[in-house]
Amino acid sequence: MRFTKTAMFLLFCMILSSVFLANITNLLSEEVATNFNNNLNKNRVIPMTDTPKHLIWFLQISDIHISIFRDPSRITEFKEFCDQTVDVFQPSLVLASGDLTDAKTRDNIGSKQMLEEWQYYRNVLRECKIEEKTLWLDIRGNHDNFNVLNAESKENFFPNYSIQGKTHPRSYMYQLKRFDETYSFIGIDACLEPGPRRPFNFVGIIDKAEIEEINRITDIVKTSGSNYTIWFGHFPTSCILATEGHGVKSIIGQLDQSLVYVCGHLHTLGGLIPNMYTLQRDGFLELELGDWKDNRKYRLMAIDHGLLSFIDVTHREWPVVLVTNPKHSLFRIPGKENFDVIRNSTHIRILVFSLAHIDKVEVAVDNEVWQTCNHIEGPLYVAKWHPYLFSNGLHHIHVFVKDADGRQKFIKQPFSMDGSRGMSFGILPKIALMSDASAIFKSMFGTTLILSILPLILCRILHDLIKAQKINKPNLRSSSFVKLWLRKMWILSTIDRIFWPLVLYPMYLSFGPWSIGHIIEDHIGIIFAWGIYIDGIFLPGSFTYAYGFLQLVTFQIPFTIILANGVNYRYKCLILKTGKPSGIYKKIKLHLPFVILMSLQIFMAYFFWLAYGTLAFLLGPLRTWSIILAAILWRQALFYPDKCIRNAAGMWDIKRTASLTSSDLSLSEKIAGTGNNNN
Ligand SMILES: [Zn+2]
Repeated sequence: MRFTKTAMFLLFCMILSSVFLANITNLLSEEVATNFNNNLNKNRVIPMTDTPKHLIWFLQISDIHISIFRDPSRITEFKEFCDQTVDVFQPSLVLASGDLTDAKTRDNIGSKQMLEEWQYYRNVLRECKIEEKTLWLDIRGNHDNFNVLNAESKENFFPNYSIQGKTHPRSYMYQLKRFDETYSFIGIDACLEPGPRRPFNFVGIIDKAEIEEINRITDIVKTSGSNYTIWFGHFPTSCILATEGHGVKSIIGQLDQSLVYVCGHLHTLGGLIPNMYTLQRDGFLELELGDWKDNRKYRLMAIDHGLLSFIDVTHREWPVVLVTNPKHSLFRIPGKENFDVIRNSTHIRILVFSLAHIDKVEVAVDNEVWQTCNHIEGPLYVAKWHPYLFSNGLHHIHVFVKDADGRQKFIKQPFSMDGSRGMSFGILPKIALMSDASAIFKSMFGTTLILSILPLILCRILHDLIKAQKINKPNLRSSSFVKLWLRKMWILSTIDRIFWPLVLYPMYLSFGPWSIGHIIEDHIGIIFAWGIYIDGIFLPGSFTYAYGFLQLVTFQIPFTIILANGVNYRYKCLILKTGKPSGIYKKIKLHLPFVILMSLQIFMAYFFWLAYGTLAFLLGPLRTWSIILAAILWRQALFYPDKCIRNAAGMWDIKRTASLTSSDLSLSEKIAGTGNNNN
């Protein structure tokens, strides 16, 4: 019987872990759907020579976060970017993928749209005469949407202070015709409507209307004879919740010409993932760009004879070098790019940009001799080559560039013609871009919720079963860490006045309101785990689950442990007559964890007050009320009367149990031994 139970348990664990592993493996597998109708690109194998035709290049900048309170150089250097950098690159267009403004209050916690920040944004672009130099395609990010009820709201400054906002308040498309090709740029605006103040504005949503609009745009692209589609938006696809259909990845993937989706929002996750790139299973590259805000990043991209290349650059870093043929082996897009173009090409092609005249561009493949590139026009440098020499396996191209001011750049990158990648995308970028943030947040919340109440409930059930003499009492004689804590949890679970609030409160968090208040200034909203209602409009839950998860991890679980300790202390005083802790050290040991936890929770409640105001603070079961609950329960744990413990004492205590076994005796002795030995 014992063996069967263990076997069942092991089997259960194995099934759970294999499901988990299968999910991770599935996520990380590089299998890409290649059943694309790629006849379009196949039919257009353009011989690649040294001509500047069939080549466009453009820039992306993201998360500029223009702020009137922090880091003025963000604005001055942004102006430098619009003046100097754009002048040097002369790009076909610039994608500005959201968080144009910071919209955070002076305290860095509150959030609202600041007219002055939008004026800075508009004025910089105006002063640089950006519209005369290039096409500026800007789109909103979550910061541009803090505290914005809807598109018509006077808080929505995007229409009047951006370049595209007036004609394109949300998702839109722009087509660029160069030579014989049409390049479609589709911007996805997944900003919430209504747009809550932070933090409940972290995950974007495309609702039915927005999905229909994007589908309408893709229909136009399909029928327009467009050759290549570049998608851009603020949120990574992992952070966009689609209320219908199969999600934004499948919307992008279903368009045969979709090469890439570029975005921002995650800011390299504080430096943790500086190269957040992946190839999505739906057959397009997804490239998150680090922020302008702190890292001053921007991206140069090029499409050369249908092959997409890019490089992420730090502001003021010159010269900038981008090899477009042969393209980097890691970023091949199977089914979308035709690699016969590389195999049949006559020239290596490199784009070079710098502040000064370019003096030298040299190239070498593998260990072959260096050869000087010819300047064709603009940034294009070429060198003759024989690609058939490199048709098998992985090779490396080396480029050396020097400008008239002595600035130098050396780059080395892999290429292949037989499909070898030579390297793979990192696990962290894959998790960040290929997963579904909402689903992850939801499962984190659900799992933690179960973890926070299940031990208590199990102890309670076990206790009742033993009391009813349905099962035997387990042997908890040893003073091992696990058994000691099991005993503490066990005692905690028998005290009704603590057990029920402790179990019901997290359960309440999964369905009841967390707070009622001004989620948007002047507009009352109600926050639940499963969504937010503002002015009667429902936003499905996503980041809310992450917030709830944090609450459970930073409050509920540690508080349960602290309470178990407190209850055990009282148990020892009442039943084992160990007396109250007399020394200051013992008092500190008892109370300090609770004081720390309460301070943390009070801080969190204060931040919540800064974020959503007084009403949300007062009517806040999640933050504010939990402090009151914690104070009451802690008092109960330290002062519960004798009668509350009878249940547990009946099971464990030497003095009150009629039918005493030797194991109980030694347990009681051990408990007494671990306490204050003044009895
Ligand atoms: Zn941002």
